[in-house]
Parts: sequence; structure tokens; C-alpha cells
Amino acid sequence: MSNAFTRRRDRLMAMKELRDRYVPYDQGVTCPGCYRSMARAEVAKNLYVCPLCGHHFPIGARRRLRMLLDRDSFDELNGGCVSADPLAFPEYREKLVKARERTGLGEAALTGTGRIGGYACAVGALDGRFLMGSMGAAVGEKITRLAEYATAHALPLILISASGGARMQEGILSLMQMAKTAAAIGRHGEAGLLYVSVLTDPTTGGVTASFASLGDVTLAEPGALIGFAGPRVIQQTIGQTLPEGFQSAEFQLEHGFVDAVVPRSALRDTLAQLLMLHRKGEGT
Ligand SMILES: [Zn+2]
Repeated sequence: MSNAFTRRRDRLMAMKELRDRYVPYDQGVTCPGCYRSMARAEVAKNLYVCPLCGHHFPIGARRRLRMLLDRDSFDELNGGCVSADPLAFPEYREKLVKARERTGLGEAALTGTGRIGGYACAVGALDGRFLMGSMGAAVGEKITRLAEYATAHALPLILISASGGARMQEGILSLMQMAKTAAAIGRHGEAGLLYVSVLTDPTTGGVTASFASLGDVTLAEPGALIGFAGPRVIQQTIGQTLPEGFQSAEFQLEHGFVDAVVPRSALRDTLAQLLMLHRKGEGT
């Protein structure tokens, strides 16, 4: 292993901000999976999956819904629901403004209704570029309202997670979203409706510990990091070396936390099939 290779890998591993893992808006992209450089257009036309090694780059919420939903079928719900700064947390307002500029979204969750393969559903996606897709009061409220809307309209629910967890700038108000979203999804389940949770890289913290883990069916993208605390924290706490591939989607599949690992190119068809199999009241 050459020094240049090691340095490049270390630099890629050191990317702390989730948004750095996204495909940048310049011509060249270095893949964190195989460390090879390639043209941005090449990755973009392959659904933002590395054509050489299959590494799945994270993608934004709008792009995600565009890839999954039938053309022009998305109707946004609660687009005006955005975070306030309840604790007057230092620099939080500035960070919100920057995140809105960067993503064109009001909040880290984009929610609404749409169709996949002709089947209607309530659907939401988190955007990791927006304060690491963290769940504050507004994200929790949007997920809750979406689940309630789905229950009221007898719609299946699909949520695509990508999150660093609860939003620390909102303290306890952020943590209580875990119970709130879980309760709304519980009521959706009691109504006999389908909820599919799709875990993408990374799904961690309070989002893993609430709505993302409550799917009737749980799917994950290949190589996604899925866990509560990060591997380094766990290793330091328990003082033991963790097994190879710990917290990867494949590891979680092997241990029964995930029902299937689905490549991005097959996700839309897989969801359409699940919706078709679980539709209610149509034929026998
Ligand atoms: Zn690659």
C-alpha cells in the first residue's frame, strides 16, 4: 500500500461533516470505496453509485424522491414547518440559514405524498447535507404529521433515513421527537397500514433509536453505516475490538436488524413490489 494511497484514504476517513461525503459539484470525484478518481458525470448517470466498486454516495432528499417516485407525482406536505431556535443556541441560526442555502430545503426532512409504480404512498426523506440530517422539533413534527396523514388517508408510509441523530442545538425538544414519531408510527401500524423504512448512509443516533427502526419492512442501501453510537465510542466504552464490518448494512442484515440490502438501482422496483403486495381493499 503506497503512502499516497494511505494519505488519501486517511483524508477521506477524516471527513467529519456528512455533507463532505456527497458528490461535489466539481468535475472530478474521488470514490471513498475504491479511492479512484472519476468524472462527476459518470457517477451522476449511475444514480450516484461508483461504477467501479459500487460505493453508494449519499444523495439529497429531493434527488432521492425524484429517483423513487413516479414522474411529477410528488406533492409536498408541511413545507413551511421549519426549526426555530428555542434555546438561543450559539450559531444555530447562522447554521440553519447556511443549510437552507446549501440544500434549497427549509428543513432536513422533505415529506409529502406520491406514487411508486402507480401505487400511492406517504413518503419522506432526510437530507444529510442539512445539519447532518439531524432531527430537531421541525423534522420530528414533519415525520409525525406525515404518519398521521398516512393513517387518516389509509396510505402506506415510506421513510428514507440519513441522519447523524438528534439535533443537539435543540436539546430535550429534539430528544422528545423520538417518542412523538414512534407513537405516530405506532398508530399507523395499529390501523393495519404498511410502513417501509429505508436506511441509507449513515443512519445513526436518535433517528435509529426511533422511527427508522420501526419499519414493518426495513431495507438498507449497500455499505450504509447503521447504528446508534459510532464504532469508536463503543470501542472506547467496552474496551474491546469490534468485528469486521460492524454496523454496516450487510452486518445488520446478518444479525436480523435489516430485512434486505437493496442496491439503489433496484430500490424503486422493490418498493413498488412491496406496495403492490400490501395494497388494501383492491381485488383479492
Ligand atoms: Zn469506487
